[in-house]
Amino acid sequence: MDLAPGQLSRWLADRGVASYRSGQISRWLYQRQADSFAAMTDLGKQLRGQLEAAFSINRLQQIRVEQSRDGSRKYLFGLGDGNRIESVLIPERGHWTLCISSQAGCALGCRFCMTGMGGLVRNLTRGEIIAQVRDIRREIEDPGLLTNIVLMGMGEPLANFDNVVSAIDTLLDAAAGFGFASRRVTLSTAGLAARLAALGSRVPVNLAVSLNATENRTRDWLMPINKTYPIEHLLDACRQYRLQPHRRITIEYILIDGVNDSKADALRLVRLLRPLKVKINLIPLNPLPDSQLRRPSEAAVERFLQILIDHHYTAIIRRSKGQDISAACGQLHGASG
Ligand code: SAH
Ligand code: SF4
Repeated sequence: MDLAPGQLSRWLADRGVASYRSGQISRWLYQRQADSFAAMTDLGKQLRGQLEAAFSINRLQQIRVEQSRDGSRKYLFGLGDGNRIESVLIPERGHWTLCISSQAGCALGCRFCMTGMGGLVRNLTRGEIIAQVRDIRREIEDPGLLTNIVLMGMGEPLANFDNVVSAIDTLLDAAAGFGFASRRVTLSTAGLAARLAALGSRVPVNLAVSLNATENRTRDWLMPINKTYPIEHLLDACRQYRLQPHRRITIEYILIDGVNDSKADALRLVRLLRPLKVKINLIPLNPLPDSQLRRPSEAAVERFLQILIDHHYTAIIRRSKGQDISAACGQLHGASG
């Protein structure tokens, strides 16, 4: 359902229904995964009828599920209007991480990313963002093992700000929503610097920033959004970001052969990030079809990592899972294939 709990409360109040019913309905939707209002048996029959007449419960059509050799699963969903999105369920040690989409397509057109190739189709509604979590969670044998959510699928979450934060509210809400721990929910942005402050004051999630270059010339070319929010501006916004205690911003850095993987780049990155509390995820590029961009050699990746470590950064190489089913970072496109 696209209505946020506050809006639902108002709708109920307009009909003279007590506001605690809103929490009851939310629990049915998000905790007990009701498929219809009729199933909400502790609501009066008349109220169930009114809800049924006024709203519908978001349904995603599961078009296809692909299973990777490494255990990740890519879900292709059809939306009510026929558009398609993908979500990826990733096995980690002892738990699952779910990577969800915030838009169908993406307007930002990063040169290395399949999602960006087709442009933006549309924003997902709050209900469509939540439905990815609900529908996939109920397929997991032990749903309690789905502990981590990353908004790193299709789209730029901060370009769909209101729907994304409203969905996050429900993901975090332990009383009437899913009850995910805020330190286990991460939003990744290409760097819409102007929205960072609003995000930090609105929801206590982890922030990941896709930096991907150390010079504006290179970043302009890789990520056109850099022309609006250049590196210094973006890092300033990161510095001012309201971090939760004991947390650090994750800096994502895709390594691309001959473009941003030199020793000089690593040293510039060290300097640029110095004033920030960060950890760095290096992501060797997942090459796209018909693209000139290549993944660096293993030795170049290791060299880059070592420079960061030598300068006392916490840095890891994030190896994308699901490469054999095009479920890896940057390979999501919602195509029927
Ligand atoms: N729009 C947001 C979130 C979705 S992209 C953002 O850009 O951060 C999620 C991550 O996948 C980003 O860090 C992005 O840099 C990375 N990514 C995109 N294309 C990739 C590719 N071809 N190989 C590796 N990582 C990629
Ligand atoms: Fe959009 Fe992120 Fe892909 Fe860039 S990397 S095109 S911002 S989804």
